[in-house]
Amino acid sequence: MMRISNHSRKRQRGGGEQKTAEYSSTLFQFFSNNSKCLQTLCLLTLCQVVLSAYHYHNVYKTTKTFSSFGSSSTSLQFASSGNSAIPKHHPSSPVNSALHVSFAASAAANARVESVAANPLNTYTNTDKDGTTTTTTTTTTILPEWNELSGAAQTELQQMLNWDKVSTFDYPEIFRLDELTQGHSLLFMSWAIVASPYSQPLLLSSSASQQEQQEQQDNEYCNLLDAFGISPTAFMDYVRTIEQGYQKNNPYHNHIHAADVLQTLHSMLQSESYRLTKVQHFSLLLASILHDVGHDGTNNDFQVQTQSQLAIRYQNVSVLEQHHVEVGLKELDSSELLDHLPLQQRDEIRQFIAQAILHTDMAKHQEQVERASQAASTPPPPPQDDDDDDDWQAAMYLLHLCDISNPTKSTFSIWTEHVLEEFYQLGDLQKSLGLPVSFDRSVANSNSKVSIQQGFLKFLVLPAFEAMEFSNPKIMQGLYANYEYWMKQDKEEDAETAAEAAGD
Ligand SMILES: [Zn+2]
Repeated sequence: MMRISNHSRKRQRGGGEQKTAEYSSTLFQFFSNNSKCLQTLCLLTLCQVVLSAYHYHNVYKTTKTFSSFGSSSTSLQFASSGNSAIPKHHPSSPVNSALHVSFAASAAANARVESVAANPLNTYTNTDKDGTTTTTTTTTTILPEWNELSGAAQTELQQMLNWDKVSTFDYPEIFRLDELTQGHSLLFMSWAIVASPYSQPLLLSSSASQQEQQEQQDNEYCNLLDAFGISPTAFMDYVRTIEQGYQKNNPYHNHIHAADVLQTLHSMLQSESYRLTKVQHFSLLLASILHDVGHDGTNNDFQVQTQSQLAIRYQNVSVLEQHHVEVGLKELDSSELLDHLPLQQRDEIRQFIAQAILHTDMAKHQEQVERASQAASTPPPPPQDDDDDDDWQAAMYLLHLCDISNPTKSTFSIWTEHVLEEFYQLGDLQKSLGLPVSFDRSVANSNSKVSIQQGFLKFLVLPAFEAMEFSNPKIMQGLYANYEYWMKQDKEEDAETAAEAAGD
């Protein structure tokens, strides 16, 4: 496991150290008492995750085991989820059926794009192994927003939403994506990842070389919608509704953050070889999409403090998280997306989604880190196909890491501005209500920003990520680089403060 050096971790900086600890204590309390995504503060995270290969079979087998949670498990086990009984196509989705027959079936047979016909974005000629040629028109009706974009925007989106790109851990284009899609970054990211068999053919650049096209076609996309017989059109309609449930005025807890968490989670599931059932995989991705829906820019502390309707409704426990679960699942029921599934499987998906979202409550952060650390120091037990509970615990921890992964990214500075602005807006609200102010913009300065960031990284994010092992070294490298950056900033400010004091 890659670890930061003791020298770096234990660097003594006199007053600065104490100051950081105080800030961190305040922050942790702030988040623990409620906030759900502590990401906000500094951003954070990383998730490492899981899964790897996807196949059309019910059982995914990969090689690496998740060294970790609890005493029994094992490997994130992609045990059979009984998908064989699930119809391939949603009964109300003729478009989906047509698409599946013409495209997905060919893909399963390792067909490849032979040529791009008249409309390079819509029509493909595939040749199966046996020489059978099928021309497919991958209608974009499942995402009409795509058709509304200019050609230049579509071309740029092909560069930032293709499979390789969305499977990369550090994704700096998230804000540009939101601009290009006119505020639909969550919708488009979900389309590119969860509905990948239906989106990636359109995202393959018409100028791509034959080799690049072949490589793209060799990718195994997330085929979860087909696995559960879910109409891609209905799924995108659901995500569109959820995206509207995010308050775009929130500087941080908005649809862009949800899109970022989804992309981070997906990339980690791609780079790390854990195993989950298809039900767990689908539920986890959905949880990332839903995990902050309905967030009002406050935090659990504020909800309890003001005795809000939500606090009363949820008895002061994980108030916002329970709200996100309720909103997300209520819309899921309204969408009838899962109505064709067996009741048991439908309930299983709902429960996994709820559990995963509730685990993003910062109040559970320390407990989760300690559990992960303990598991990492214990030799992994032999695989047990019939016990995937510990694997699911690990998967939920990964979602939590993704939620606080901003400090691992090259975009961390931008996220910092967003999260601090949300904190200060809450401070403004608290002040207007005569409540104690958690973050007061009137006394904020660059020093407090640096201290918040450094404390957040040092006491919350670093320990959380170091409790895991990642195959992708860029995850920890980004985190350490950002940590060193804030340490340096803090040191320079300490020196400036000392110089000013001497001048006085
Ligand atoms: Zn979040």
